[in-house]
Amino acid sequence: MAVLVAPKLLTGFAVRDFKMLINGEWVAALEGGVLERAAPSHGVTVSRYPEGTKADAERAIAAARQSFDAGGWVNKTGAERSNILLKAADLIESRAEELSLLDAIEAGKPISQVRGEIAGAVDIWRYAAALARDLHGESYNTLGDGTLGVVLREAIGVVSMITPWNFPFLIVSQKLPFALAAGCSCVVKPSELTSGSTLVLGEILIEAGIPAGVVNIITGTGADAGALLSTHADVDMVSFTGSTGVGRLIMANAAQGLKKVSLELGGKNPQIVFPDADLDAFIDAAVFGAYFNAGECCNAGSRLILHKDIADDVVSRIAALSKKVKLGDPLDPQTQVGAIISPQHLQKISTYISGASQAGATVVSGGGIVDFGAGHFMELTLLSDVTADMAVAREEVFGPVLSVLTFETAEEAIHIANSIDYGLSASVWSRDFDTCLTVGRKVRAGTIWMNTFMDGAPELPFGGYRQSGQGRELGRHAVEDFTETKTLNMHIGSRKTLWVCD
Ligand code: NAD
Repeated sequence: MAVLVAPKLLTGFAVRDFKMLINGEWVAALEGGVLERAAPSHGVTVSRYPEGTKADAERAIAAARQSFDAGGWVNKTGAERSNILLKAADLIESRAEELSLLDAIEAGKPISQVRGEIAGAVDIWRYAAALARDLHGESYNTLGDGTLGVVLREAIGVVSMITPWNFPFLIVSQKLPFALAAGCSCVVKPSELTSGSTLVLGEILIEAGIPAGVVNIITGTGADAGALLSTHADVDMVSFTGSTGVGRLIMANAAQGLKKVSLELGGKNPQIVFPDADLDAFIDAAVFGAYFNAGECCNAGSRLILHKDIADDVVSRIAALSKKVKLGDPLDPQTQVGAIISPQHLQKISTYISGASQAGATVVSGGGIVDFGAGHFMELTLLSDVTADMAVAREEVFGPVLSVLTFETAEEAIHIANSIDYGLSASVWSRDFDTCLTVGRKVRAGTIWMNTFMDGAPELPFGGYRQSGQGRELGRHAVEDFTETKTLNMHIGSRKTLWVCD
């Protein structure tokens, strides 16, 4: 069991009533509905958002279309867009504590962790601002005397963005500044569970000077507010982060209009450990990788693939270290693991654990629900004797559950790593860099960490293979993903290759 930090009463915390941002105005839902969000750590209402419907999505898309076609944003120079994005980054930094508190209380995440996420987001906005000035195409001066070829990059148009609840501010920051850098107009729909920080971002963007209609933020459920965002004829691209199931639905919907789709989906990420690894460093990374954000993380290192010779030692050391992790009140700065997002999700995690146990896995530590009297919390759980065919080894549990599998040869480890449908990230641990590179090149995933876990930088692209998604966020790719290419094929001098001659 971890060190428990019982949540303190939420005294002096004012419930926030939000509105949606459409065409530069703060508005209620047309049908008047309101969604209440209760803190998953305390069980009391902390935010209210408009319950948007298709009618609200319709007017947000219309505003985005109108603003894009009018050209007020897309026709600005890269330097002008960059300056506004830099101002937005400064304003995010100045409101970092307010944003951190909102994400902590709506998502149940530890406040000290969210502070790091907001600081990371500020860095991403600044990086995207730099790309706004550096977006460029190609030229071909190699096509002969009579031809010059120029390949332009143009903003793709209206982009809809749908985001999940697990990193509310960070994930919108992996999409929106890059689309804005490219010159797009956007409709953003955050998760109905954690919309607060995205709505505050709307206030920040208006203050920074984004013209009305360029960023619209609608709230509500996926079925009501979200559905039109992947089907409407005026949307040119859908950028989605969330579950693989909903991603599949969005891709099918977008296919009707042949829209461009970028998908950041689930993961079941292997950590492959060889006997010569720095085990002190690895044990800490394993506990962090599995239990960070209560395991509600697409990148969670939820599948340990350990060499047989070290498996028993590693398992007992992970169990011992996880007892020192502080679990509980997200608002206590010492807390490292907070609440589970909803009672339904807590139940789903428990069902995975009992299913694994019935299938023959051993619960080495944890396995139960933590009862603080309110909120939803889960023990940090370690399962050994897991086999590659078990659901807990193949499916995304999205909770603090670590499954241990074993291998004898590198080929076997690679085979286990690649034997599931996901391919988001993986890590390889060995002091022999040949081993790291050989294994890392054969594991099919978008990011491979070597002797580390869950590090990143705005410069490094992030995204998945196979059912973990398509397209890449961050890096240069991020801004280029929000563009179309246009070829200018220019003839120089009189055109001599006439088809019909007199
Ligand atoms: P989810 O798929 O349930 O919801 C994501 C978003 O989609 C929400 O805003 C939701 O309202 C919306 N939505 C739901 N149905 C919709 C529909 N029919 N049309 C339009 N929008 C719809 O995911 P979640 O539970 O919020 O988040 C957890 C999932 O997100 C996990 O699977 C996790 O792996 C994934 N995720 C992936 C990444 C990544 O970068 N690969 C990052 C974070 C989370």
